[in-house]
Amino acid sequence: MAKKIIVIGSGFGGLASSLRLKAKGYDVTLVEKHPDLGGRARVFKRGDFTYDGGPTVITAPYLFEELFGLFNKNIADYVKIVPLDLWYRFVFSDGQTFDYSGDEKSMKKEIKKFSDKDFKGYNDLVNFTEKIFHKGFTDLSDKPFNNLSFMLKQIPSLLSLKSYKSVYKLVSNYISDEKLRRVFSMHPLLVGGNPFTTTSIYTLILFLEKKWGIHYSMGGTGKLVKALEKLMKEENIEIIKEAEVTEIISANKRVEGVKINNSKIIDCDYIVCNSDPPNVYKNLIKSKKNYNFLFKQKMKRMDYSMGLFVYYFGSKKQYKDVAHHTIYFGNSYEKHLDKIFEDKKLSEDVSYYLHRPSATDPNMAPNNQDAFYVLVPVPNNLSNINWSKEGEKFKNLILDKMDKSILPDIKKNVVSDFYLTPDYFEKELATLHGSGFSIQPKFSQSAYFRFHNQSEIFKNLYFVGAGTHPGAGMPGVLSSAKVLDNFF
Ligand SMILES: Cc1cc2nc3c(=O)[nH]c(=O)nc-3n(C[C@H](O)[C@H](O)[C@H](O)COP(=O)(O)OP(=O)(O)OC[C@H]3O[C@@H](n4cnc5c(N)ncnc54)[C@H](O)[C@@H]3O)c2cc1C
Repeated sequence: MAKKIIVIGSGFGGLASSLRLKAKGYDVTLVEKHPDLGGRARVFKRGDFTYDGGPTVITAPYLFEELFGLFNKNIADYVKIVPLDLWYRFVFSDGQTFDYSGDEKSMKKEIKKFSDKDFKGYNDLVNFTEKIFHKGFTDLSDKPFNNLSFMLKQIPSLLSLKSYKSVYKLVSNYISDEKLRRVFSMHPLLVGGNPFTTTSIYTLILFLEKKWGIHYSMGGTGKLVKALEKLMKEENIEIIKEAEVTEIISANKRVEGVKINNSKIIDCDYIVCNSDPPNVYKNLIKSKKNYNFLFKQKMKRMDYSMGLFVYYFGSKKQYKDVAHHTIYFGNSYEKHLDKIFEDKKLSEDVSYYLHRPSATDPNMAPNNQDAFYVLVPVPNNLSNINWSKEGEKFKNLILDKMDKSILPDIKKNVVSDFYLTPDYFEKELATLHGSGFSIQPKFSQSAYFRFHNQSEIFKNLYFVGAGTHPGAGMPGVLSSAKVLDNFF
């Protein structure tokens, strides 16, 4: 009889690992606390508007294609993924813009708007990030970092790639203009890190974008979740919704099953956990007697990613000139990020990401209208901010800022809206301290120093998703599911 695996959680890490393990012949059951799948990629419907809750930028579509290929199926029969010409439009508080794309001619023109000499620096930077990409992504993103000797073997090449520098510092070695430095150093924010403290290994995202481009799933990222759910059903993977794992049952150094909604117990041979590892080790494993001193220290020393304030709004006015992905920079950058990551204080000088899917897919909003979300990095819940008091004020601040800049008159045109705060991430998605992306991607929290894919404590417990190796973002969590190939 096939060995039984329970997968806890239906983020992309959980969906991908369910499929990968099923393809290897295991008996897989996925349990999800919500009535719908997707985790951070859940879809919200409000009136005539449909909103992707989280991820919108698809950067390595082959990682999704592979999942269908495992069963000799073609992703194109399930969902349509299209490349975008304009990747991001960056807007500065003085109104200057930078259109970021994979088109060399256009990049030259855009860079020269800010600085004549930085185009050469940009090309040199891309060439250097290609080397980082080959080491950090091609060689290591799907390898397990379970033992220190494997980590130590990587150190010389990581040092030669200047991994001791921060992303901002590395970018600044090549780019002199401050605004362009912001453009090319912002990538850690996409995976929960501060560009001023995140290891420069993460500049590999710059090359990853160049290599595969930026894509969109027509109908929204939610269609990708639905496509994976359909594939799972076709392949007889059992999916149990509204099933919160309230305890992982263990004895000695093995896990034996899960308790669902504080009542029913399901036994299994292995558990693959897509729930956030810090939360699992703190709350779902009741007996801590196997946690040794070093592991307890690891749990204590972790720094968590920033929180997210996400405001979803439908507008009766259509903003045809607004790009699909806009990143707006407030006045300050380093100081602003310090306030979020270190001081844990809200700031009025916000930067944000604005999503306008109808720029690519008109069906994402009712006729002549627009469905948006704006994502604002904020402190995580270690800040003690009372979001039930501050949420509405903060929403109005953001609306006001957009009304005065890229969405004139938006205040008069919003017809439906709601927002999520770090409280949602903490309570609904079970992420410690309401962090948007689990633990931060610092060098001291990467690879061996992150929570291991094969648990440090229980040999038959595995982790996939943002809190384990390689880390957050869709390419990261899909790669974490590939790491399991080394164990099963
Ligand atoms: C607003 C936002 C925008 C983003 N944009 C992008 C983007 O454009 N591109 C990109 O690549 N990445 C983006 N990201 C990051 C990316 O979405 C995440 O890193 C990734 O989706 C996380 O996947 P995961 O596998 O870690 O699982 P998660 O999505 O974190 O899902 C975990 C699942 O586990 C379930 N769960 C937890 N505990 C239990 C339990 N005890 N019992 C049962 N179920 C449980 C939760 O309900 C949830 O469904 C974004 C993230 C956010 C929040």
